[in-house]
Amino acid sequence: MRVLFASSEVHPYSKTGGLADMVGALAKAMARAGHEVGVVSPLYRGIRERFPALRRMDWRLELPLGHRLIRGELWALSTEPRLTFYFVAQAGFFDRNGIYNEHGVDYADNAERFIFLSKAVVHLARYLPWQPEILHVHDWQTGVAPLLVRHQRESEQWQGAPPVVFTIHNLAYQGWFPLAALELLNVSPGLWSGAEHQGMLNCMKAGIALADVITTVSPRYAREVLTPEYGEGLDWLLRQRQARFFGILNGVDYDEWKTTGNPFLKYPYSIRNLAGKRRNKIALQQELGLPQRPDMPLFATISRLTEQKGMSIELPALEEMLHRDIQFVLLGSGEPRFESAFQELAARFPQKVAVRLGYDTPLSHRIEAGSDFYLMPSKFEPCGLNQMFSLRYGTVPVVRAVGGLADTVVDATEDPSCPTGIKFYNYSAQALAKAMQKALAIFADPSLLSFYRRNGMRVDFSWERTMREYLKVYQQALGKD
Ligand code: ADP
Repeated sequence: MRVLFASSEVHPYSKTGGLADMVGALAKAMARAGHEVGVVSPLYRGIRERFPALRRMDWRLELPLGHRLIRGELWALSTEPRLTFYFVAQAGFFDRNGIYNEHGVDYADNAERFIFLSKAVVHLARYLPWQPEILHVHDWQTGVAPLLVRHQRESEQWQGAPPVVFTIHNLAYQGWFPLAALELLNVSPGLWSGAEHQGMLNCMKAGIALADVITTVSPRYAREVLTPEYGEGLDWLLRQRQARFFGILNGVDYDEWKTTGNPFLKYPYSIRNLAGKRRNKIALQQELGLPQRPDMPLFATISRLTEQKGMSIELPALEEMLHRDIQFVLLGSGEPRFESAFQELAARFPQKVAVRLGYDTPLSHRIEAGSDFYLMPSKFEPCGLNQMFSLRYGTVPVVRAVGGLADTVVDATEDPSCPTGIKFYNYSAQALAKAMQKALAIFADPSLLSFYRRNGMRVDFSWERTMREYLKVYQQALGKD
């Protein structure tokens, strides 16, 4: 099959979260399985310097954006057979310090930036010589692409336009803009209603309303978002489109997330030989300035610091638990109120808490490898990746049972013969603290801890299974099943 992906971020070129991981890994898995794959994303600042093999294509973009004509270039990089990354270069829009925002403030022209990206995507879908059979777009930043395809199919004689699959990675971010931004689409007003919601342009809604097939990143989240509690005001539309809406669990790129042959880890280890994990723990404690105590249970979180990730219950739960003999490590960045609260915690418990604000992939591997327990108390979680990385790294996840966390972690109450982690249900600091106490009881029993670790390390979330499910969805979009 020939598939063109489009995303505002793709690993390893640009990343703020799981969206980038998923698009990069799915594209790679498909190409390796013999499919022809392209991936379109913006040429952000620094990508060319980090990847000097990028080549400018002999292809100039000149696309209408409301009353303006915007010029751009295309750069490309083929990393392996059948896999090409296309970068949309538009310095005014993408040559900036941030991807979506700076200092916590969204760029004022995000409608222009991402509608332009969506137009470039549709342009490529239409004119690439290898003629993609499926256009697979992701999240609100490319959410208007299905509408643009429909416009070109109906008004510009684009026969053979590919069906569009739209994947929701997080329904909470919808791309709301003033209604005037509809003009940027340059489509007939008859099509505007698909993108309009409560008197505004809503790019997520456009994707849901107009894509041929909609998916999201775990089966549980696909059920949750049909309810008002998790539906972010769009549950009614998702219920309308339910027959074409599927939940497919993301995979993990085990080429990168591995405990042997991993360039970021000093001590390799495996399910048969866990000794290296203890060494990684001591090395991590040393790196972060904590007492080197392998006998102390070490909890960790690597995350965007937002309400979604459960930070407002994690802080008070830690507050309660830090009076015990535990250590805690945080790597993350996000809302200033959470950043300063974690920094204060580290200042008050210097022997127990280490906080690193920022984004650091190598350190995230070392934390996953060196910790005993991984805390993920999300309010909602479309899929979540770190609990899956944790399982592979023998780090027992402690999660709230929502979305992908519910789908990927097995609590002893669900299957006493093969538990992989600890689940709690109420969104409260007390419930999390209680789950952490269960973790301490497991830690106190080395054979039980090793049982959990090995169960988790055996779980396989590789991309092959995920990819096969997407291929089925593509067949459905093509009307072939
Ligand atoms: P989301 O996409 O909602 O942020 P996911 O769990 O799906 O959450 O994906 C988050 C991804 O970003 C993971 O690969 C995680 O390791 C990574 N990540 C998040 N924060 C940091 C950070 N501060 N440093 C390094 N990696 C991070």
